[in-house]
Amino acid sequence: MMEQKCTTKQMYTEMGISEEVYEYGRRILEQLKVRFDEIDGVAEFNQLKVLKAMQECQVSEACLLGTTGYGYNDLGRDTLESVYAKVFHTEDALVRPQITCGTHALALALMSNLRPGDELLSPVGKPYDTLEEVIGIRPSKGSLAEYGVTYRQVDLLPDGTFDYENIKKAINDKTRMVTIQRSKGYQTRPTLSVDRIGELIAFIKQIKPEVICMVDNCYGEFVETKEPSDAGADLVVGSLIKNPGGGLAPIGGYIVGRKECVENAAYRLTSPGLGKEVGASLGILSQFYQGFFQAPTVTAAALKGAIFAANIYESLGFSVVPDSRESRHDIIQAVTFGTPEGVIAFCEGIQAAAPVDSHVTPEPWDMPGYDAKVIMAAGAFVSGSSIELSADGPIKEPYAVYFQGGLTWPHAKFGILKSLQTLCDKRVITL
Ligand SMILES: *Cc1c(COP(=O)(O)O)cnc(C)c1O
Repeated sequence: MMEQKCTTKQMYTEMGISEEVYEYGRRILEQLKVRFDEIDGVAEFNQLKVLKAMQECQVSEACLLGTTGYGYNDLGRDTLESVYAKVFHTEDALVRPQITCGTHALALALMSNLRPGDELLSPVGKPYDTLEEVIGIRPSKGSLAEYGVTYRQVDLLPDGTFDYENIKKAINDKTRMVTIQRSKGYQTRPTLSVDRIGELIAFIKQIKPEVICMVDNCYGEFVETKEPSDAGADLVVGSLIKNPGGGLAPIGGYIVGRKECVENAAYRLTSPGLGKEVGASLGILSQFYQGFFQAPTVTAAALKGAIFAANIYESLGFSVVPDSRESRHDIIQAVTFGTPEGVIAFCEGIQAAAPVDSHVTPEPWDMPGYDAKVIMAAGAFVSGSSIELSADGPIKEPYAVYFQGGLTWPHAKFGILKSLQTLCDKRVITL
């Protein structure tokens, strides 16, 4: 029998990528070699950082098993928390499948460290949409506002820098906690680097040293060789179905930081008196460990995808944040199409590139926690996982799509080419 020869390019053709789209991508990629090398360098450092922590904590085969019931003396759970604390250079960590998502982790960190009469300050503008209900910016059952915690916000200046003058004015006797969102979320402001977060924290601590500085680290983990906890944050919070879960964690969130702050969160998650002592890990720990182990290279794959997308869509004349050359501090890529058709076609392309549910067509829907219809493309192994190739966009001005993830670089690349193909096929753009 004759050997069947099929080149990579032919594979793309078979999977619906035209010669034109393939060539467009190839030309863009040629310019990205140096940047991709830098990303691999960061991944190499972070891989060693995670490995070193696992070795120093003596992760053993027994740690991969789980407990049931109360989960007393869960060796694997407690060791995993030590591994996280080492990687983030913090006193303590809470890493649990009982933390249902990123919003829950953030709500937990806030509600456990704030008391009635305290004030929360966001010095970086409006926080992530779902936190509006946690804080009570949009009235909501169980919000911090309902418990008598007030909120103040200082927006970034038009050029994206911190409004130090008004931040200083906003800090008062009641200010107990500061929340700093690293990633831009559904906004088009720049994402904050760890260094910039460090400068902001230093400024705040110099005015009020005892204030608890929390960083929403969602999408930021392992993008740099440092984390916000290396820059003075008292609490760093994130979701395990984003970067640190490495695509393998099927649920979960983490809170790392100062012992007292993490303990407060544990007493809120379980119960006063019980804290970290309970919370069975069930059968989930091997995925948490392996996911965390793979997170540095998975994050690198996602970053390459984001940069590839930025370069493609910027060259086509769309506004992209971050732009094609900017340094990166999270894995999100925003592309402003300016029309609902653009947002929808892009998401359809990402969905069509998925390993799961590639045959379904995503549609805008009223998602809980968001104030406009949102279209989401996520053909993921873990439902809603956004470290996997995914895109979402609120159907409202300025009609921007937020693209992120990709467990492997070749898949991220394919997804972006597929999005480009869909935009061409639907005549939203012409190459
Ligand atoms: C994803 C995200 C959240 C919320 O996480 P969920 O897991 O979706 O609840 C909060 N903040 C930022 C910046 C995020 O990206």
